[in-house]
Amino acid sequence: MRLEELTWPEFERVRKKVKAVIIPVGSVEAHGRHLPLGTDVFAPVEIANRVDEKLKEKGVDVIVAPPVWYGHTFVLNVYPGTINISADALKAYVAEILREFAREGFRRLVLLNGHGGNHSPLVLASEEVAEEFDVEIWLINWWLDFREEILEVCSSQGHAGEDETSVILAIRPELVKMKEARGERRTRKVRVIRRDIGFELFPDGVNDDPRNASAEKGEAILGRVSERIAELLVEADEEGKGS
Ligand SMILES: [Zn+2]
Repeated sequence: MRLEELTWPEFERVRKKVKAVIIPVGSVEAHGRHLPLGTDVFAPVEIANRVDEKLKEKGVDVIVAPPVWYGHTFVLNVYPGTINISADALKAYVAEILREFAREGFRRLVLLNGHGGNHSPLVLASEEVAEEFDVEIWLINWWLDFREEILEVCSSQGHAGEDETSVILAIRPELVKMKEARGERRTRKVRVIRRDIGFELFPDGVNDDPRNASAEKGEAILGRVSERIAELLVEADEEGKGS
């Protein structure tokens, strides 16, 4: 169920039986000339809603919270339309959201992250809150944690690449300009941090070849990733019952 659609009495009734809260976290960020700036939010919100659907079929209730739209995106900030929030601000903001859910009585909080630059601030926020409350926080980076499943579908993956482009083709095809889709995988042996490194590592805001993307592949990725997350939540719930 979607948190923003409940009244407070409904929320109060359901919160005791809800097993987890899923909070999608993304960024407003350049994704090549072919994908919308909201890509990193559209994807985890869709995955969260599919997890909710799958769990409903199994009789398990979760709450999907509204997403955190703005993220920390240092590297891609060289392109117009990227709205970068400092790592400290993101960490503090997400920690406040986690604390509030902990105070509302939830024990398993799932950060479903759609954007690489958020990783470190999300870990730090989670550690801070886990010191204060008896909660279990999951940090899911969907494209990394389920890389194996994704690479069964796509030949490569990367920022605005085959996997992300496929996912957006599946869920918001009207926003994808496939004629503008191009790019290549670029890496450096060691991490180099420089204000304008984005131009070099992400030409046009891309780091992979997106031209083989398709809606069918996107559908397959969304199906597999949401199924795996649903399974993990069911397993964790059953383990909890046993102890
Ligand atoms: Zn992205």
